[in-house]
Amino acid sequence: MQTVEQVSPETLEALDAEALFRWAHENYGERTGIITSFQDTGCVMIDMAQRVAPGLRVITVDTLRLHAETYALMDAIEKRYGIQIERFQPDPEHLQRMIKQHGEYLFFDSKEKQEYCCTVRKVDPNQRALATLDVWFTGLRRDQSEFRKATPKVSRIAQPSGRKLLKIAPLADWTQEMVDAYIREHGLPKNALYDQGYTSIGCVICTTPTLPGEDKRAGRWRWFNQFHKGDKKECGIHIHGAGI
Ligand code: SF4
Repeated sequence: MQTVEQVSPETLEALDAEALFRWAHENYGERTGIITSFQDTGCVMIDMAQRVAPGLRVITVDTLRLHAETYALMDAIEKRYGIQIERFQPDPEHLQRMIKQHGEYLFFDSKEKQEYCCTVRKVDPNQRALATLDVWFTGLRRDQSEFRKATPKVSRIAQPSGRKLLKIAPLADWTQEMVDAYIREHGLPKNALYDQGYTSIGCVICTTPTLPGEDKRAGRWRWFNQFHKGDKKECGIHIHGAGI
């Protein structure tokens, strides 16, 4: 087996999504996992992996502020595939300290406090999940936003500790139409929030529905739109650890 350092991301770029799941599971076993927030792309990844690489881990970052519809979908997926989703949550002490100091709704106050909240509720639990992985499957797609347009299918990234891992976006080159078609053909469950106008799914309040023609992530942290032109609309999970 090649170590993460020995793998050449460029050679994997030509593989399709199913082949990538197989390759990663065969080579890295328990150190391979999908981290998903249960948007459509995540549901496609889970279904595909269960078919071609049964047992591949499914992980989520549960910020404790997700919509009821998202928790319901998680339960439905566990039942459908007979799997246990691993839920990484914020550190309770850190969370209590933040709320005591800044309040539950600190994300309205400033961009800095929104990022602090995202660090405590998302980025830190995500880092803990990543510490258990050598291969991280993510649902990023190039058509989701301007910022994600150049998403590579396979990249090598570094954790804050310096440890390297492979980040794979197996559906990076898929369009929304391809995702929709897969969901229809395989009869997959969908997050009920899509029927309410959401095109991106995250925490309650911070995520809102979008209008036709808007960027898919335009509904995130809308109250900052007038102050932060060109805001990347990212929580930090996909910003830390640039490709190396
Ligand atoms: S999306 Fe909002 S509630 Fe969720 S972690 Fe970020 S700032 Fe906090």
